[in-house]
This record gives sequence, C-alpha cells and structure tokens, in this order.
Amino acid sequence: MQLVFASNNQNKIKEIQLLLPDSIHILSLEDIGCLEEIPETADTIEGNAILKANYVTEKYGYDCFADDTGLEVEALNGEPGVYSARYAGEQRDAEDNMNKVLANLADKPNRSAHFKTVIALNLSGKQTLFTGLVKGRIIDTKRGTNGFGYDPIFVADGYEKTFAELSIEEKSAISHRGLAVSQLVSFLQ
Ligand code: IMP
Repeated sequence: MQLVFASNNQNKIKEIQLLLPDSIHILSLEDIGCLEEIPETADTIEGNAILKANYVTEKYGYDCFADDTGLEVEALNGEPGVYSARYAGEQRDAEDNMNKVLANLADKPNRSAHFKTVIALNLSGKQTLFTGLVKGRIIDTKRGTNGFGYDPIFVADGYEKTFAELSIEEKSAISHRGLAVSQLVSFLQ
C-alpha cells in the first residue's frame, strides 16, 4: 500500500516509515510532485491537519496523512497553538518564540501547558483523526540543548527535566507526536 505523508521533513518521514510494516510504503510530497506550499490557513491544529491531508487527496488523488502540532498554554488562552511555528514572526525563530511565551507569562502564576499533535488520515474515502497530547508546565528559564522548538521551556507532568534535557528516545516515548503516531500505526496495522 502506498500512502503519502504530507511533509518534506525527511526526519519525520524516516521515523514513521521505520514504525510501519513493510507493506506500507510512505511517499513524501516531493515523491508525488507536489512542490507548492500547502496552505495552512485554519485556526485550529485539527483544521490544519485536515486541510493538508485533503489538499493532497483532492488535488493528487492519493491516500494521505498529515500532521499538525502546537503548544497550547492555558494562561495565554491556548496560544501559541496553531501559530506555534511563527508566534514571534515570520522568521520562525525558536528562541524568539520561546522569549515571547516567557514574556507573556511573566506575571502569570498558572504555567500549565500541553503539546498537541493531530494526524488526519484519508484512507479509502474515509477520514480518521488521531490526537496525541502531553501535559506539563512552562518553566521560567530555558534548559537543555536537545530537541527543537519550545522543548527548552517545557517540562512534562511527572518529570523534572525539560524536553530539551531528555534523549530523543525518552522524549518520543511520552511525546505528543509519539502518541499520535503510535495510534496511526496501530490503526494501519
Ligand atoms: P509542526 O506542525 O510539527 O511543524 O510544528 C509546528 C511548531 O510547533 C514547530 O515549529 C515548533 O515551534 C512547535 N513544535 C512542534 N513539535 C514540537 C516539539 O516536539 N517540541 C517543541 N516544539 C514543537
């Protein structure tokens, strides 16, 4: 079975291919000749995952899945959410984004936050959504150098280390993306 993953992120593609049975062959956007930027104009994480998956299925005719992820901070009414990548501007800079979260939280005692990944799968004319959520808190100062994005300021519930202080294996075992992907993999198996 061929299935498009609506991404050109080779790391994500490899990671998912390794988790799937050999009978499922993952194609990237480049593999199917989709070289244009897919619009991500929805105002929810679910909405953007659905937009991307539907774009590929409707325009290119492939079964497809797409993911979208965001950090939702309770005291900021769910921000940065769907704007996580470009929270501090179109330069999409992780340091700037973290600084903006920390500044906006400076006078707020409630530090609760979660990462959410939604995967939308279009398979044989039917759409299924998978959601992975990891709850935790935003700390005051960045710690750690692993990972990416908001990892240095996020500590998962039950942990003392930030996501950026965990190894990739430790993070994947509990992360929003890991949880959503394992639901997708069980479904496809
Ligand atoms: P994407 O939907 O996977 O491209 O993620 C959108 C944005 O959310 C990224 O640019 C990061 O800012 C943030 N993000 C996604 N996943 C993670 C993560 O595992 N750790 C930290 N930040 C993340």
